[in-house]
Amino acid sequence: MKALKHIAGILLATIGAGFVLGCIDVLLDRNSEIQGWGVAAMFIVFALLPLAGAVALLRRRVTELPPARCPTCGGGERAAAGVLKRAYNFWLMHFAGWLFASLWGASREQQVRCIQCDTLYFTETRGTRTAGIMVWVLILLVLLEAIAELFEK
Ligand SMILES: [Zn+2]
Repeated sequence: MKALKHIAGILLATIGAGFVLGCIDVLLDRNSEIQGWGVAAMFIVFALLPLAGAVALLRRRVTELPPARCPTCGGGERAAAGVLKRAYNFWLMHFAGWLFASLWGASREQQVRCIQCDTLYFTETRGTRTAGIMVWVLILLVLLEAIAELFEK
C-alpha cells in the first residue's frame, strides 16, 4: 500500500510537472491559438490538481522517516558531518546533465556525525527523500518527452 501510494504520488507529480512545462510552452508560443484563460484553466486542472494530489500522497514519505540511531551507541542526536562524500558520478554528469546529477547526489544517504560518540554514519533525511522523488519525476518526464517525440515522427 505504501509503495502504491509512493508510485501514484510520483506519477501525479510527473503529470503535474509535465503540464506546468506544457503551459509555459503555450504561453511562450505567440502563435498559439489557445486563449489565456484556457491556459489558466488547463494549468489549474492538469497541473495544480495533480501536484496537490502528489503532495498529499508523498508528504508522509518525506516527513515520516524511520528513527535513525547511531550504530555504535544508539544515540539519536546527530549533526551534519560536513565531510560529505557526494555520490557524484562522472558518467551521470556527462550524459544526464547537471540537474540529474545533483538531484542524484542529493538523494543518496547523507553522512552525519553522532553527537555523543562522534561516529560517522549514513542516514536518510527529508532532503534525500525529496530529492529521490524528484529524480524519478525527472526520469519519467524525460521518458515521456522521448515517447512524445517518437509519436510526432
Ligand atoms: Zn553514537
